[in-house]
Amino acid sequence: MSTRISDPAQLDRYECRTCGYIYEPTDGAGKIPAGTPFSEVPDDWRCPICQSTKPRFKSIGPKVGTMAGFEENAGFGWGVNLLNPQAKNVLIFGALGVGFLLFMAVYFIS
Ligand SMILES: [Zn+2]
Repeated sequence: MSTRISDPAQLDRYECRTCGYIYEPTDGAGKIPAGTPFSEVPDDWRCPICQSTKPRFKSIGPKVGTMAGFEENAGFGWGVNLLNPQAKNVLIFGALGVGFLLFMAVYFIS
């Protein structure tokens, strides 16, 4: 099949309302090649888990939509959210260490 996904709506995933199996257009399923929108899946196709027919499937939206929230959050916090966990730890404990030294300095001065 030479179908190419160009319309974002064709990336919609479909969930089997019977067993919860999710059809991923980017992965295909069984004999269905990867990159096949659910609308292009043959009408006699059945859920690979429970053999439900196509009408039992319901669109649950494209996978990329679920990533939007994370990408939005990455813009906040002065870029701290873009750091890897290790760098974040260094930043947090480094700041705590500096704060502790300042506290001790004030303690000794007074
Ligand atoms: Zn199913």
